[in-house]
Amino acid sequence: MNRRQIFSLPLGLGAAAMLTPAQVKAKAGKPKNIIFCVADGMSPGVLMMAEYFSQIARGKGTRWAALMNDMTASRGVQDVAALNSPVTDSSSSSSAWGSGSRINNAAVNTLPDGTKLTPILHLAKQAGRKTALVTTATVTHATPAGFAATQPSRDDEHLIGLQYKNKVDYVLGGGQRFFLQSKRKDKFDAMADFAGAGYQIVKTRAELNAASKAKPVLGLFSDSHVPYTIDKVDVPTLADMTTFTLDALSKSSPRGFIMQVEGARVDHAAHDNDIAGLLWDQLAYDDALGVCLDFAARSGDTLVITTSDHGNSSPGLNGMGLEYVDSGKCFERIVKAKSSFNTISQLLGTKPSASRVREVIEAQRGIAITAQEAGWVAASASGQKGVSINQILDKPMGVLGQVLSNYYGVAFTGMNHTSEYTTITSTGPGSLPFEGLVQNTDVFPRLTKYMGIQFKNPSMTAAQGAKFNKG
Ligand SMILES: [Zn+2]
Repeated sequence: MNRRQIFSLPLGLGAAAMLTPAQVKAKAGKPKNIIFCVADGMSPGVLMMAEYFSQIARGKGTRWAALMNDMTASRGVQDVAALNSPVTDSSSSSSAWGSGSRINNAAVNTLPDGTKLTPILHLAKQAGRKTALVTTATVTHATPAGFAATQPSRDDEHLIGLQYKNKVDYVLGGGQRFFLQSKRKDKFDAMADFAGAGYQIVKTRAELNAASKAKPVLGLFSDSHVPYTIDKVDVPTLADMTTFTLDALSKSSPRGFIMQVEGARVDHAAHDNDIAGLLWDQLAYDDALGVCLDFAARSGDTLVITTSDHGNSSPGLNGMGLEYVDSGKCFERIVKAKSSFNTISQLLGTKPSASRVREVIEAQRGIAITAQEAGWVAASASGQKGVSINQILDKPMGVLGQVLSNYYGVAFTGMNHTSEYTTITSTGPGSLPFEGLVQNTDVFPRLTKYMGIQFKNPSMTAAQGAKFNKG
């Protein structure tokens, strides 16, 4: 191949030109199975910190970093913008993957004028494939919903859940409250409804282990989201749920399957500016990714994509001390954390004294913060404003995150989603087009093509969508 031929290759093939023709052919093929993994709200900087943290805390690296170093994998970044904002929420981001159309934040597969879009798992099911959603959020939360529901508001989780019946074969995560008759707004017995449709309802690890893999499963392991990994509650891990589901799918899907796996609490910990909670959930996600990669290696006909739907608060390890020699020492302190900011917040209550703040942080994080720092956290937790100059960070956990950044070296830019290109890495047949800069709307046409589905959802330009903006 001469220089001119290389430059005339379509986008993506340039990087693949270093592979053997057989390797390129394998990447350009059509997968039988599709596994789409999402570390929700994972800013790109988390990848390096997770690798570093895993080495310190577990004496081994991460599967995602190893995959990025695999020459046969496809490596890219992804523009995840929403229709109405360069900063995306999970429902619009997952809907762009799930429908091929950009929509406004807070909606699920619905255009601003109310036009309903058909989500990818419904199409896959019609085409004879098995389908699955596995998450550490409520199963009805924005990211799983984007693959299998259509709803004007992401907050109507009780209505989103009903749309999974007979469309999603294996649904595992949290969110009993959106199915229990006693807790639903409309008092509808969604548990009985799913059971009547042939679903096994499971609520504990023992029940999951005992469930038949031949029949559909609705697995709901907590009232709301599955607890943070760092809080060590006895529930199935994301890797446990993924292992069960892949085993079930491999036995029951002669025509192939499509599955979404979401590490949701990475996003929640980022909103809380809790780097310890974030990194432990990122490692739990990485374990689940490892389960998927091992399955793909055994099957040979499975595409695995790992990515994020948007950045969140852009955490970064800063240079600390003279010539930055203290950065590593600061970062290592994160390993001593015993609980999430969520737990710490409960321990502090609404009007903690500064001494109570010091006591809780010492016990939960092994760090002796100063009286002044404890005073700032206590003031913010008691409702005082202006404790932080950055208004986004002017909340109790934002102030606590800033205080602990003095010890951990890791600081956050805010407490909201951020606009970075997210990392997207993929392996297996069908991974070739996911090289380079990928649009979130590219995912749907590629995955439906792999499944032999010809379908295009309606879409709007940003200018057309802006006519429907409120205010
Ligand atoms: Zn979020």
